[in-house]
Amino acid sequence: MIPKSEIDEILSNYDKNNIAVATICAHSAAQIFQGARREGLKTIGLCTPEQRIIYDSFPEATPHEYIMVKEWADLLNEENQRQLVKRSAIVIPHGSHVSYLKNEKLQNDYYVPMLGNRQSLEWERDRDKQRRWLEKAGLKLPKEYKTQAEAGKKVFVKFPGAKGGSNYFTAESDKEVEEGLAELVKLGKISKEDAANRTIQEFMPGVRFYPHYFYSLTEDDRQIAYGLKEGRVELMGMDIRIEPIDESYRGLPNVPKKFFDYTVAGNEERIVREKLLADIFRMGISAVNVSKEKDFFPPGLTGPFCIETVHHPETGFVAFEISARIVAGTNLSTRGTPYEALTFPETTSTGRRIAMEIKNAIKQDKLEKIVY
Ligand code: AMP
Repeated sequence: MIPKSEIDEILSNYDKNNIAVATICAHSAAQIFQGARREGLKTIGLCTPEQRIIYDSFPEATPHEYIMVKEWADLLNEENQRQLVKRSAIVIPHGSHVSYLKNEKLQNDYYVPMLGNRQSLEWERDRDKQRRWLEKAGLKLPKEYKTQAEAGKKVFVKFPGAKGGSNYFTAESDKEVEEGLAELVKLGKISKEDAANRTIQEFMPGVRFYPHYFYSLTEDDRQIAYGLKEGRVELMGMDIRIEPIDESYRGLPNVPKKFFDYTVAGNEERIVREKLLADIFRMGISAVNVSKEKDFFPPGLTGPFCIETVHHPETGFVAFEISARIVAGTNLSTRGTPYEALTFPETTSTGRRIAMEIKNAIKQDKLEKIVY
């Protein structure tokens, strides 16, 4: 792991009047650029030729400058890193950093300052670590099993990493689990390693809510009364991911197998019954507090994150997953969300909130607290 002191040293040489926001042109980049532009920050798009049309087509989301690469792995090259540091750039990690870039390289060799705590990406990617984190935070999680027989009911089979739910499937017997895995390997959709590292969970019925949080270290400490150690956990919005399975009713009465697919295709906005917001805030506060503890990844989580949950009246909220960075569901927020309107006087998105946090941290002379 690249030491924090090395990143702080690089950051100390940055031109604080000319900080640039940089990110990979994918996932939530348009929103990040739009938000940074609104806040008057320079933006740099790390882009491949195929993706550039998207960002050139949205005038409010075109980065001021592109650094072009042939493939994503090239972003880790020395020259690209040097260019970013030269421009006083802070990289905003998102789902594409988790899925396209080799984690070891990102953790060990990537010396460009990143928003948040880069260790959190490792805690997100590793399902065992993630589980330990959420369990310590007191969240309810789907039960996990070695086999379907052990579960004795319908199970959900999933794979490591931020793969957008692709290839996840349900099974009602161990034969179905094994056949499902063998077929995916045969079709080249997953590696043998992925098959070996699959997770078997109980299938959770209920209503999904994916609350988007922002943990700010530049705002007032009003939630200390509710156990938060410092700063403010903001609720930015909420979505659900839309997946082919959500439209499976269209195939009734004989639903084609292709509808049994959990690959994310887009997102829809949600709000939750107001009384349930108390649980949503408590979950966020608790996840933040635990992340700061010594067995986890001090100084802990900062900036945007999301807890993917399903709610049922009998169980309350059960968390499938935590994303320790901006999630693509926040792309709904470029015109603001109902929850952002309750926190900020002006229309804000998570992208804009990131830029606001960077500016506030510069003003309060604590940029190193929100960057690693
Ligand atoms: P994840 O990558 O963990 O966010 O999961 C992707 C999608 O799979 C979720 O949006 C849910 O629709 C579904 N899912 C994940 N875990 C479970 C589970 N244990 N039970 C039922 N559905 C699940």
